[in-house]
Amino acid sequence: MTMPMTHPVAQTSPKKFWQCAKCGACCHIREQNKLSAEEEKSYKDYMKKHFGIFYLASLSEVTINVWPEEAERLRDEAKRRGMDVRIRPKRALVTPNHDLIVMDYFIDHDICPFFDKEKRQCTVYALRPLICRAYPLTSAKTYGKCKYKSTNLSDYGSEMDHAQELDLRIAKEKAIITDLMLRGSIIRDFDESKLRSQLANMQLKELRIKL
Ligand code: SF4
Ligand code: SF4
Repeated sequence: MTMPMTHPVAQTSPKKFWQCAKCGACCHIREQNKLSAEEEKSYKDYMKKHFGIFYLASLSEVTINVWPEEAERLRDEAKRRGMDVRIRPKRALVTPNHDLIVMDYFIDHDICPFFDKEKRQCTVYALRPLICRAYPLTSAKTYGKCKYKSTNLSDYGSEMDHAQELDLRIAKEKAIITDLMLRGSIIRDFDESKLRSQLANMQLKELRIKL
């Protein structure tokens, strides 16, 4: 989320949009998680118990959220450019047949491999994930850690549109999960310790959300 994140301000418009300072901090995507092992376990147990959501990575590894269709686009682009980009599953649901339904992925690098460190800009601007488009908003009402953010929500233009789309996706995701649980299509009593070791051999499906 760097250089091209600026928003042109129409001369005739009185609206002053927030402008990205292009510091590049949000493309340095791995933030060390401060959770202790007990806290991480407690959080994951809660997500499993209440939503049937299993984490396929430790929370300290997880970076920006990439929805399945975004992961596909970024993988294709990386392949086209001959880049080595690791995009790993982040959260999944488990069916009674022990198939995994991957909900989302994350870019498994400390600094996003699509970030041009010299020019300090995103090299996949048109393909960048929704979470990058919304930043520094993390929802229509919440902010990330950007040092240059405005805390006045009315200062945001396209970031707010994308933050609202994020909120819609998350609401729809919750509704889908609730429905799957009610139908008995996903289970919660699965040995989580097997997930990472068996991942390569499991039947992977994806949850793709249409708005
Ligand atoms: S996809 Fe682009 S905007 Fe998003 S973290 Fe990577 S370089 Fe930054
Ligand atoms: S951290 Fe904030 S100012 Fe820096 S590039 Fe990201 S959005 Fe722009």
